[in-house]
Amino acid sequence: MGVVRGLEALGPAELLHRLRARRSSADDSPVTHIERVEARAGRTVPWPEWVPRELRDAYGFEPWEHQATAASLAHGGRHVVLATGTASGKSLAYQTPALSRLLADPRATVLYLSPTKALAADQLRALVRLGLDGVRPATYDGDTPREEREWIRQHSRFVLTNPDMLHHALLPGHARWATFLRRLSYVVIDECHTYRGVFGSHVAHVLRRLRRLAALYGGTPTFVLASATSGDPADAASRLTGLPVTAVTEDASPRGAVTFALWEPPLLPHEDPDLPPTRRSALSETADLLTDAVVAGTRTLAFVRSRRGAEVVATMTRRSLDEAVPGLGERVAAYRAGYLKEDRRAIERALMSGELLALASTNALELGVDLVGLDAVLICGYPGTRASLWQQAGRAGRAGGEALAVLVARDDPLDTYLVHHPEALFGRPVEATVLDPANPYVLGPQLCCAAAEAPLRPADLALFGGEAAVDDLVRSGALRKRPSGWYWTHKGRPEVDLRGTGGAPVAVVESATGRLLGTVDQGSSHAMLHRGAVYLHQGATYLVDDLDLEEAVALVHAAEPDWSTHARDVTDVSVVSVREYVDAGPVGLFLGTVDVSSQVVSYQRRRIGTGEVLDTRPLDLPARELRTVAVWFTISPQELLRAGVEPADVPGALHAAEHAGIGLLPLIATCDRWDIGGLSTANHVDTQSPTVFVYDGHPGGAGFAERAYGTASAWLRATREAVASCGCETGCPSCVHSPKCGNGNNPLDKAKAIAVLDAVLAALPHQGS
Ligand SMILES: [Zn+2]
Ligand SMILES: [Zn+2]
Repeated sequence: MGVVRGLEALGPAELLHRLRARRSSADDSPVTHIERVEARAGRTVPWPEWVPRELRDAYGFEPWEHQATAASLAHGGRHVVLATGTASGKSLAYQTPALSRLLADPRATVLYLSPTKALAADQLRALVRLGLDGVRPATYDGDTPREEREWIRQHSRFVLTNPDMLHHALLPGHARWATFLRRLSYVVIDECHTYRGVFGSHVAHVLRRLRRLAALYGGTPTFVLASATSGDPADAASRLTGLPVTAVTEDASPRGAVTFALWEPPLLPHEDPDLPPTRRSALSETADLLTDAVVAGTRTLAFVRSRRGAEVVATMTRRSLDEAVPGLGERVAAYRAGYLKEDRRAIERALMSGELLALASTNALELGVDLVGLDAVLICGYPGTRASLWQQAGRAGRAGGEALAVLVARDDPLDTYLVHHPEALFGRPVEATVLDPANPYVLGPQLCCAAAEAPLRPADLALFGGEAAVDDLVRSGALRKRPSGWYWTHKGRPEVDLRGTGGAPVAVVESATGRLLGTVDQGSSHAMLHRGAVYLHQGATYLVDDLDLEEAVALVHAAEPDWSTHARDVTDVSVVSVREYVDAGPVGLFLGTVDVSSQVVSYQRRRIGTGEVLDTRPLDLPARELRTVAVWFTISPQELLRAGVEPADVPGALHAAEHAGIGLLPLIATCDRWDIGGLSTANHVDTQSPTVFVYDGHPGGAGFAERAYGTASAWLRATREAVASCGCETGCPSCVHSPKCGNGNNPLDKAKAIAVLDAVLAALPHQGS
């Protein structure tokens, strides 16, 4: 098995044919849809007049039209977001105005923000390669040695950092950055679509704090944002920065043709008729496809959602390749965050050169930007958004060449829906990035951070949207009001975690070594870190010995149990206030504030592989209270009867509709099903009706429930379709089962859930999505 034959010789259709040949009978093909994305020729334009000769020469080529358009807008002082596909050269669009300015004004500075260190390191290498005098680019993050920091503050004119560093170090120490901030000409926000939900809402305020302090020193930077393709990027970028932002979305870079196949692993034969049917796991299926792709001699990248999953796919693929051709397994590697930068680059180079034929990797952001032009990309499980799907698929295909992308569905409602509804993936705008800077649980702490950096003046309040919130902070004693403004008068700084709103995160510590493995936000800690829980970290498993809530520490030891653990909880929702509603006769749709009380009361241990319940063990944990935003619908008992749902079936019908609704919400908002919770009940004390609640799992809400309310008929229609089109009889993980159900997925009534959703949809007024 020697050379890379490549897809030129084989063609995507032939490769796909080979992939399916081994595993389908004529009438039961795993391929549910094939979409051909046509090639596109690139459009270059001459460099804009204002770009200095030195920079044009350093690049050595002409820009694509979208790069020039975005760059010229930024050069003219307009805040701009460039939202185009993978490998469309977004960096050139922000480098050009930023570097032109640095060359023209020897004192100007630029701040670059990226969500990952790997991406910042890529950018730094690209900047250094340009070899421009006097720019002195440098990364400034948690790894930067103390002795280098001072030099960077004084001398670097292009500082690459991340929002956490900005929040924890740069802004609080702004006095030392005074000169840099005064001269700040551009702020670049790369991969800005990753700032969503609670994290995005925090970052929005971090950026407002940056703007305020820059202004204090006399700096008025122009913001240039780069985004994956997303729905309404101008609106999301405006929410993020608090500034009017112009979007450039027309991609003028060349693209090879891609054949995109949707793939559903087969149902497994089940011995026990009482257990729900399950599909072959997406991991095993992906490993098989990767094996066949390598045997066919194509360079292939498999994206797997978890680190452990990536390792598993690589190991399975190596094993079966070695069985086929001894030694061939060596040409497959796993690739994930946590590897050293040098190792990652070495792996990427080996894949590009053909020395390696396949990689199993976690998400696209960790990969170097140069890693494109592969023969095939396998996507193991829907990555959560259409934006990331296209980003991952975008790694396949060279200009003028042909490539194959395959989405392998996991056994869950959203994946199942998508492989049977290709129209939801193709030829449809990608979802909007949702964030909500007005969340009081984000706004309050962020105002404290701002006040600690420099007293808040009345004029600042409009910037943060904090007119009302600041009075609450004075009343609670967090801030002190003086004639000149609002002051942080406490010792130390406010402790604010950008990724949560529920207090200090819980540290996971290995007892034997004292090593900190990671942190879990408080909201999830009861379910994930209770005594006896199996905790996963970078592919290794640990058992929790003790959870100390006061100290916010969980002690664990390494172990490899052959069971998994599943927490059970009891949840209660009470309505605090209704913000908006739709009165649709027997059906009501509401958006409002709720109090959620939930208590993890026990956990089940289940055997890995079979799902057999070994036992249920009690837990003694306090109830948790959460005030958040929810969307809910009610339906009258008479209407339920008319829809054929007898009183005895109501709990199972509503519960199944709730699960599927949560599973499908990521279709319309960039959330994860783990960001959301739900409750269904045949008679709720506040609504006096059968009710299904879906709420944001973060205090104060993160914008998800609000988005669900605004697109309710599209959301519930997709939910109904997902349940109805699932091939199982009585419900399975592909439709109404939930991996995070606090009730052990009981009761669930698939057929009656469809009847409920039909009745709700018939009553609700139609709206666009
Ligand atoms: Zn099903
Ligand atoms: Zn449930």
